[in-house]
Formats: sequence, structure tokens, C-alpha cells
Amino acid sequence: MTVSRPAMAIYWTGSCGGCEVAFLNLDEALLGIGRDWELSFCPCLLDTKRADLEAMADGSIAVTLLNGCLRSGENLEMARLLRLKSRLLVAFGSCADGGGVPALANEASAAQLLSRICDTAADAVPGQRGDDGTFSPELPAPSPLLPRVHAVAELVDVDYVIPGCPPEPDRLLDAIRTLGMSPLPPRGTVLGCTSRSVCDDCPREKRNHRPQRLVRSCAIIPEEGWCLLEQGIACMGMATRGGCGALCPTVHAPCTGCYGTLDPDAVPVAASLSALSAAVLPDIPHPADDRTVRELYRAALSAVADPLGTLCRYDGARNLAGGTGQSGADRG
Ligand code: SF4
Ligand code: SF4
Ligand code: SF4
Repeated sequence: MTVSRPAMAIYWTGSCGGCEVAFLNLDEALLGIGRDWELSFCPCLLDTKRADLEAMADGSIAVTLLNGCLRSGENLEMARLLRLKSRLLVAFGSCADGGGVPALANEASAAQLLSRICDTAADAVPGQRGDDGTFSPELPAPSPLLPRVHAVAELVDVDYVIPGCPPEPDRLLDAIRTLGMSPLPPRGTVLGCTSRSVCDDCPREKRNHRPQRLVRSCAIIPEEGWCLLEQGIACMGMATRGGCGALCPTVHAPCTGCYGTLDPDAVPVAASLSALSAAVLPDIPHPADDRTVRELYRAALSAVADPLGTLCRYDGARNLAGGTGQSGADRG
């Protein structure tokens, strides 16, 4: 008797492909996944095309892992098509969860981005230059850029999230196993992470020290074993969901927050700024008015040369959309 396996799809929209690499990094565990699931649509790994997906019955895919942000009309079309064909749609990786690194582009309008690209690489972009010098790129339909980068859940219903840039393979495997179980966790659960922060898993010692100001990470050689933030390096571990095992601080690099903001209801940039502000203690004279205190804190944080990239490198789309609303209480 042949037992049919539930179908799984993996697809990328505005993505670097690193999340697919994380899937391949499951190594021999892929054999178990192949036993339990039928990979029915994954253009990165299988010769499967959009027409194959369109031919599938609605709801015939048990689980789709969708990685990447929504940047173009084509991204949105594919996300909607996968939603239609899938019983569960999972935002896989930080680009799908919060817009990821591509959402840093929300600093500029789509028109400004196109104009910059066309001005600097006009020879490489098909299009027409008008008499007034303006360039109109010819982009394949339906690819015109959306006005901004979106996290998947902003435009398409999402059932679960697996965070990380990319998700750690072991946690990804845990999450895939959870998706194959019955009963499933409550809809909206963030899988493959913990309900604690990266700091909770970090082996570096906290000494209850608050530096007077932050420093550029290239400006000092941090003391081995001591919390990087307490040495003045902008490490985002306290504001970031745990799950990676504090990978970066363990190898002497500050956490940049790729597992997303710990508080699901917070506006990411505000949560990170608040955490960094609480970590420093500038020398404040007494008495001091509010304006003086603000200026001293501004100076203490001024070593952050790239504020947006430091404070919300991975979930910038949520600064515009608000928090995720996903419960932090039921993480798988
Ligand atoms: S989350 Fe990271 S690894 Fe995955 S697609 Fe986005 S940038 Fe690439
Ligand atoms: S702030 Fe960074 S270095 Fe310090 S304990 Fe947290 S994760 Fe570790
Ligand atoms: S330490 Fe931070 S940046 Fe590094 S993998 Fe973990 S969550 Fe991501």
C-alpha cells in the first residue's frame, strides 16, 4: 500500500536565496524530510514552473515555506497564488517575516530607486530615454515595483513564522517537524525560536556596567568573555528573539537582530532604540533640563553610524506596519 505524503512547497520572492541554502544545510535530515513530505513545488531545487503551480488544486499543498519580501507585482502575485494552493503558508526567514535587509530600501521611494539604478547602470537596463533626459525602464510584466517593500503578512494571510537570516538549520528542522504534527500550534505562532532574548543564551558575562557612550565596533578590541554591549558595542541581543544560540556574540560579533524584535507588538526601531538607550549612562550634571539630557543621550549613541541598519536591519517593513500582533507566549 502506498501512503501519500503531504505536499510541501518552497518559494522565494524578494530573496537572496540564503533561506533555501539553510534548507539544504539540513544535510542528512533532508532524507527524513523526503520520507515525510513530497516537495511538490520548489523552482530553486526542482524543475517546477509557475504553470505547474497553477495546475494544482486549491489547498492541495499542505505547507508552503515562503521566503523573501514582497517588492514587485510578480512577488505579490506568486504569494497570492501560493496562498490559494496551500493549507498553511509560513513566512520563512526575516525577509518574509519583517521585510529583511531589502526593507532598508523603504528609505527611498520606488521611483527614486529606479531613477538611481537607471542613472548609474543605464546601459544594463532596457528602456527609453526621453528628450528631457528622463529614463523609462522597460520591465517585464507584472514586475513594476510596489510602492514599498512589504513583509508577507502585510499583504497575504500567513499562518506561521520561522525567523532568522537565515533560520538556523536545527531550528528550521524543529519547525518543519512541528508543522507535520497534529494538533498544530495556534495560528500565528513563531516557530524555531524561543520566548527569550539572544542575551539569555549568550555566554558573555554581564557585569551590570553601563558605558558612558557607544563606540564603533572597529575602534576597540573587546575583552574576551565580557558582554559586548557593556563594552560599548551596539549589540542588539537584548531586543532580539532567541533561537540561534547567540551565534554572533559567541564568535565576537555583535548581534544585529536577525531573529526579529523580541516584543511582537513593538515598533522595531523604537524597541531597539529604547534598549540601546537603557544600556548607556552618560555623565549627566545635576540639575539638568530635558533638552540637556536628550543631547547627552544623543551624543552617547552617536557612534551608531547607520541608525536604520543598526536599529532595525531585518524588520523595517514593520516600522511602517506596526507590530506583528503575533503572540509571544506560544512560540514553538
Ligand atoms: S532572510 Fe536572509 S537568507 Fe533569507 S532570503 Fe532574506 S536575506 Fe536571504
Ligand atoms: S548584549 Fe550581546 S554580548 Fe551582551 S549578553 Fe546580550 S547578546 Fe551577549
Ligand atoms: S546573534 Fe543575532 S544576528 Fe546573530 S544569528 Fe543570532 S539573532 Fe541573528
